[in-house]
Amino acid sequence: MDLRTLFLAQTALLVTVAVTLWLARSSADHANGLRTWTWGIAAQGLSYSLLAGAGHLPALLSGGLANALGALGVALLFVAIRQFLGLAWRWQPLLLMGLAVTAVGLAFGGRYVGATIFNGFAYGLLQLLNAWVLWRDRRAASPLGHLPGQHGLLRVQALVALAHLLMGLVLPLRALLLALGADQPDYLDMSKGWQEPVFVFSFVYLVVCSLGFLLMCKMRAEQEVRELALSDGLTGLANRRALDEDMIRALGLAQHSGHSFAVLMLDIDHFKAFNDQHGHRAGDAALRQFSLCLQAELKSGRAYRYGGEEFTVLLPEIGAEQAMALAEQLRAVIANSCSSASALPGVRSASLGVAVWQSGDDADRLFGRADRALYRAKTQGRNRVELQL
Ligand code: GH3
Ligand code: MG
Ligand code: MG
Repeated sequence: MDLRTLFLAQTALLVTVAVTLWLARSSADHANGLRTWTWGIAAQGLSYSLLAGAGHLPALLSGGLANALGALGVALLFVAIRQFLGLAWRWQPLLLMGLAVTAVGLAFGGRYVGATIFNGFAYGLLQLLNAWVLWRDRRAASPLGHLPGQHGLLRVQALVALAHLLMGLVLPLRALLLALGADQPDYLDMSKGWQEPVFVFSFVYLVVCSLGFLLMCKMRAEQEVRELALSDGLTGLANRRALDEDMIRALGLAQHSGHSFAVLMLDIDHFKAFNDQHGHRAGDAALRQFSLCLQAELKSGRAYRYGGEEFTVLLPEIGAEQAMALAEQLRAVIANSCSSASALPGVRSASLGVAVWQSGDDADRLFGRADRALYRAKTQGRNRVELQL
């Protein structure tokens, strides 16, 4: 197969991908970089179509414009990855790279080899940077690996990083081999045996990267929707649905291992009075601040907004004594530091009910005991902790 055919095939592939991404566009694409990626792919597709016309088209098009579009495409993919990862980027070095690539392309007048040597190093560097940031972000994100879908996303991200790494090695290597070649072939010379595999690889690279990047964006969108579904709109804490899911998991784990866990039901004292006096907006702000305080105080376990001014804490692998100590600590913090100064204006104290899993417990029995304990804490004067065995 000659180089022109390969370039045209690349064009067909890239334009098809770009059009498909464009048709499937959504408002989320701006934030996660998919819109930028689409433009990058389109620019590369156009670039290849002009490269394919070398010898027939004026050098300004097949040399200058083709290389400018190629550089634009590579730069846009670079930016898209940084947008996805939430990293800053500067346009000046990219513009400089684009201008240099265009100038070299023009200087070689559409002859493929000379420009390829220069591009190889410039593009290779960007691909290596892409691989590096994707891999680094992956490692930074791995503590969150327990999130549903997170593992899949990290695996795809690793694949895309690997594709960039390989491209980042292949491009400069090819440039080096071309530079070292004594008799440099002119355009459309495929006589060198390794040219063809390089182009086949760049095909695979484009498919893997575009499909991978699309999957990364869609998987993240899925994750965001799921996180929204599992978090409380007002306080940002985990919500009832998350509590129900985690409770099923905790019960399974306890039954399997025999290790108990604890449920804390926490209810802010006299919250209605604060609402009545200061209004619901002030009450909302107080609940938000209280949630931050609760979350910050918890060294282990997870806090949920059960509903209204009631919160639940799940404490994994803990016995009654330790759970009571932790609940007492929480109560003291809420009564002292949380209500000190202007930190938590609406919350003077909270009452807590504690229940600890025993063999044979299901969610209803466990919550029932925690509820009874909380009721007792309320009736016995509030700002206290009670345990129901
Ligand atoms: P107790 O010590 O017996 O718990 O008294 P309380 O006033 O805290 O309890 P009660 O059940 O009588 O009232 C709970 C109040 O919590 C009623 C409601 O105004 C307030 N509340 C519940 N959810 C929200 C919310 O999302 N925002 C605001 N601002 N207030 C809420
Ligand atoms: Mg209540
Ligand atoms: Mg209350």
